[in-house]
Amino acid sequence: MSTADLQIPPGTPPAQLRELLRGWIAANAPQGLSDILDWRARVDLPGSVMRAVSEEQHAQAQRHPLFREWEERCLQARLVCPAWPEEYGGRGWEAPEMTVLDEEFFRAGLPRVDRVQGESMVGPSIILHGTDDQKRRLLPSILSGEHRYCQGFSEPGAGSDLASARTRGVIEGDEVVITGQKVWTSRFATANMIFVLCRTNTDAPKHRGLSYVIVPFTPGENGIDARPIRQMTGAEEFAEVFFDGTRARLDNVIGGLGEGWRVVQSTLAFERAAAGRATTMLVQSRERELAALVELARARGRDRDPVVRQQLAWAHTQVRLLRASWERTVSEVAAGREPGPQLSTWKLFWSEYHLKLGALALDIAGTDALLRPEGPGHPVDPWQDAFLVAHSGTVYAGTSEVQRNILGEGVLRLPREPRQAGAR
Ligand SMILES: Cc1cc2nc3c(=O)[nH]c(=O)nc-3n(C[C@H](O)[C@H](O)[C@H](O)COP(=O)(O)OP(=O)(O)OC[C@H]3O[C@@H](n4cnc5c(N)ncnc54)[C@H](O)[C@@H]3O)c2cc1C
Repeated sequence: MSTADLQIPPGTPPAQLRELLRGWIAANAPQGLSDILDWRARVDLPGSVMRAVSEEQHAQAQRHPLFREWEERCLQARLVCPAWPEEYGGRGWEAPEMTVLDEEFFRAGLPRVDRVQGESMVGPSIILHGTDDQKRRLLPSILSGEHRYCQGFSEPGAGSDLASARTRGVIEGDEVVITGQKVWTSRFATANMIFVLCRTNTDAPKHRGLSYVIVPFTPGENGIDARPIRQMTGAEEFAEVFFDGTRARLDNVIGGLGEGWRVVQSTLAFERAAAGRATTMLVQSRERELAALVELARARGRDRDPVVRQQLAWAHTQVRLLRASWERTVSEVAAGREPGPQLSTWKLFWSEYHLKLGALALDIAGTDALLRPEGPGHPVDPWQDAFLVAHSGTVYAGTSEVQRNILGEGVLRLPREPRQAGAR
């Protein structure tokens, strides 16, 4: 057995798991890896003020030999995609184990080797709905990092109401020929695969005519064009994606032709669960962010202002509540209960909190907040970035209005909102 192997008997309690992971990290983390990037700043959720690390810097650090060495060791220890079932290379871990893993890597200042949407959305959807052949062909390349996925769901006329997707998929022999437009495609710059929702039957009711297709993402080839969208922060983190006669293998349709809506539902549920798993990082980054804001208030002499003090105390209670509600969710999962609609409360709470925190930060920064820093393009400073990006948190993974509908109807049992069938 090499030192990178990691034996963790099933059912190991979290405290013991923590000890085992700590020992493994101490024995396996390459010297200097924590110095090549502030990995803690790299929270996989948009909206963090600590996003001092850009996508490009992160991608570059991931090409560093020390990261490669770490990646190999994590793969050997089955710490990549650890929430996947064992037969597909994972460990079948749930939120409690994932929380310990995230916390220990964060504590050590080391990156979790994360296959992002491949790991948390498309992989689990293939495991649930894919054929044996699809599992054999598609899962190992997610695990190894060869395939990096982006999500082709939203369209200009289909966001919350995803079932209205109009991108067409026409079957020709053993291929699906895709034509249409997607939008807000995150991670397009680093992806080489995309999972696309397209309409393969225009005669069927809108939920029944959809198919879920895995397509190699090759902008400039095979009829695919990706046009980056510049955001108000100046970053270009997502794109419009155009398909014009793009050919994909028919046997890359997951869940069967016309069964795409079922698979989408699973992917969206996995997305929410993934947002849940990443929340250990979210809580830690909010704690870090607030500590930095208190420092800013001190530096600006605003810490004596009673109104600012009160606002910071409010922010402190919100962050404490975030931690408490995440810990409650973890204990519920550990006790074998599904978190259910509280994930909507959680999503609503952290995104709306961050919107207010961004405004508070600009208030504390004072008139400086009105000026962009010097530099090429349209750079923003971290607090301006937090304020601007926080708005997106209330939109992705289900908008605040949609979350309120879920809570109103699913928890409070209020009368249903009039809506078109299929809105997510
Ligand atoms: C940072 C970020 C990353 C994203 N990444 C991706 C990605 O990688 N791939 C992808 O496919 N998509 C992605 N999206 C798109 C995202 O899923 C959609 O923006 C989201 O589903 C909302 O859709 P929409 O923008 O079309 O708004 P719409 O659905 O048109 O909503 C407009 C407004 O109407 C409200 N509304 C809509 N329906 C209802 C309802 N039933 N009841 C009450 N109010 C309602 C909404 O709350 C919103 O305020 C991303 C979005 C963001 C912000």
